Amino acid sequence: MVERAAFVGGCDGVAAVASARLIGEQPSGTIPHALILIMGDTVEATRAFDEVIEKTVPRVALIDTFNDEKFEAVRVAESLGAGLYGVRLDTPSSRRGNFKAILQEVRWELDLRGFSHVKLFVSGGLSISDVLELTDAVDAFGVGTGISSAASLDFSMDIVEIEGRPVAKRGKQSGRKSVLRCRGCMQDHVVPFGAGKACSCPGEPVERLVEVLRSGSLVSAPPAPKQVRARCLEELAEPGNNTPITELLGI
Ligand SMILES: [Zn+2]
Repeated sequence: MVERAAFVGGCDGVAAVASARLIGEQPSGTIPHALILIMGDTVEATRAFDEVIEKTVPRVALIDTFNDEKFEAVRVAESLGAGLYGVRLDTPSSRRGNFKAILQEVRWELDLRGFSHVKLFVSGGLSISDVLELTDAVDAFGVGTGISSAASLDFSMDIVEIEGRPVAKRGKQSGRKSVLRCRGCMQDHVVPFGAGKACSCPGEPVERLVEVLRSGSLVSAPPAPKQVRARCLEELAEPGNNTPITELLGI
């Protein structure tokens, strides 16, 4: 479920094979430290990966195992050339120092030598604040714990109406509702069912509720995770949806 939520929330892919199968996607992953440790050299390991793994898999070299990231990045780029898709820094926070400066340095050295096509991937215990801080210097993030331990959204299901009669337990508003999203300011308003307008701004209201179950049966098939993800990204790109992420997450 964590991977599904991450994917529909906008992540590009998931690594666990079983999770990918559940959401109907191909799992994705890159070279592990184990391969480099066993082979004893970053370039040798990356070349072996390149030789054996099917060509549809992007070549992302892991450059922080033994030596300085800058020199390893240049070595693998010079070895694989145009075939290198990206480099990954999985450096633990205890060894990072000024991580952004390290990334900018790697970028500089790669660009200077004509490897501006090589993307920078970062992983390793990344928090939301790390991602926000590094986003200008990085092309892709691999995030695990930061997502799986994210704050959960509380929700419950309540009876609010029985055969047309509004009824609800204490602390809950009775009666059938509409959830209207204002296209002007992207605020959601919970109003009595049928109320056409809720927002004080001139934005157009859009009903957000969709009937899913009727008398215990599914009314329509639930959309595939890929469709939910597309809608999520579309909504994030809405011009009125400009609340800073730090505010949304309360950080
Ligand atoms: Zn509005």
